[in-house]
Amino acid sequence: MSSIQAPHNTLLVPGPIEFDDAVLQSMSHYAESHVAPGFVKVFGETLTLLRKVFQSTNPSAQPFLIAGSGTLGWDLVAANLIERDEHALVLNTGYFGNSFAQCLTTYGAKVLEYAPPLGQRPSLDEIESLLKNNTIKLLTITHVDTSTGILNDIKGVTELVRRVSPDTLVVVDGVCSVASEEIAFDEWDLDVVVGATQKAIGCPPGLSIVYCSGRAIQRAQSRQTPPASYYASIANWLPIMKNYEAGKPSYFATPPTQLVHALHTSLSQITARPMSERFALHKTASDKVKAAIADLGLSQVVPNRDSQANGMTAIYLPDGLTPPDVLPGLLKRGVIFAAGLHKEIASRYIRFGHMGVSISDPNRNDIDKALAALKEALAEAKQAKGL
Ligand SMILES: *Cc1c(COP(=O)(O)O)cnc(C)c1O
Repeated sequence: MSSIQAPHNTLLVPGPIEFDDAVLQSMSHYAESHVAPGFVKVFGETLTLLRKVFQSTNPSAQPFLIAGSGTLGWDLVAANLIERDEHALVLNTGYFGNSFAQCLTTYGAKVLEYAPPLGQRPSLDEIESLLKNNTIKLLTITHVDTSTGILNDIKGVTELVRRVSPDTLVVVDGVCSVASEEIAFDEWDLDVVVGATQKAIGCPPGLSIVYCSGRAIQRAQSRQTPPASYYASIANWLPIMKNYEAGKPSYFATPPTQLVHALHTSLSQITARPMSERFALHKTASDKVKAAIADLGLSQVVPNRDSQANGMTAIYLPDGLTPPDVLPGLLKRGVIFAAGLHKEIASRYIRFGHMGVSISDPNRNDIDKALAALKEALAEAKQAKGL
């Protein structure tokens, strides 16, 4: 395998992920004005490519690309789509559900949290009764909670919301799922998907992706009070995004031009094939990882295969081992996994990200290398501990 990248350990955490050379190369673009015709075209095309990633053709849907990390998407939602003292229902399936709830609270929303037991999906019956007994302006659900590797049923939850409380906006935190798990934005009638560039999209971190329905935009435009953020204001960004996509220069705050080139390249690669093919590739790789984990006698934080993410796996360590016993052994073999993140179980598990080029590029051998390294590192750690 020849690459322009310096030799390095293989980064297999649930984001950032390994990059394709072409994505990195497109970042070393010469200086250009953010309102020059060449850049306007690239930015406009990148917004249009996002529509394809979300399998969305409804012209009232609106992509936003704003300099910032995935977290900025929460601020955009909290500052524009709900007002002070209105109720949000957060379906909290891990670390990122907690954080989204905190962000909503920061802007004055009243947050109801429903947290099912660790590793389990929220029950539809419970959600139904919460929606019936409260006036919920906005519901949030984490598509893949990166702290546990749970894959939530955003299609099923949205169907329920439309049936029981049709005016409730459905907001999906897709930071760890966009481009690895199926999202049919129009067909499933979602309102917002929040994403970032550095996870399954395989681009360096630094751009926040927010994809809004016409219903969500209308909600932002019919607020009684102005949004409590200047930078994260939909009113400030909407004309900019519309102009760029229409090929017209526009300015509110300077976009990271080199990063937009990188995203244009990665989205062009991703959308060159049907999205369904990409999701199937992630599923196949995930099946292989999960089977190998079971063969090693290890269990996962999420027990039920249907609720397990396809871009990552959260793996319980054998009793008596903690992440610092195992991660250095992986590193010695050229593989980087992440430690635990969910505070209840952080010392008992590790996380393996298997997204993007690591699973889709036939010239790479990242997954087999990681599984072999894991087997050896575990044996070594057990021996060292006399287990
Ligand atoms: C990584 C992640 C975030 C936060 O994204 P940043 O880019 O680190 O700000 C939010 N939600 C989920 C589900 C994530 O995996």
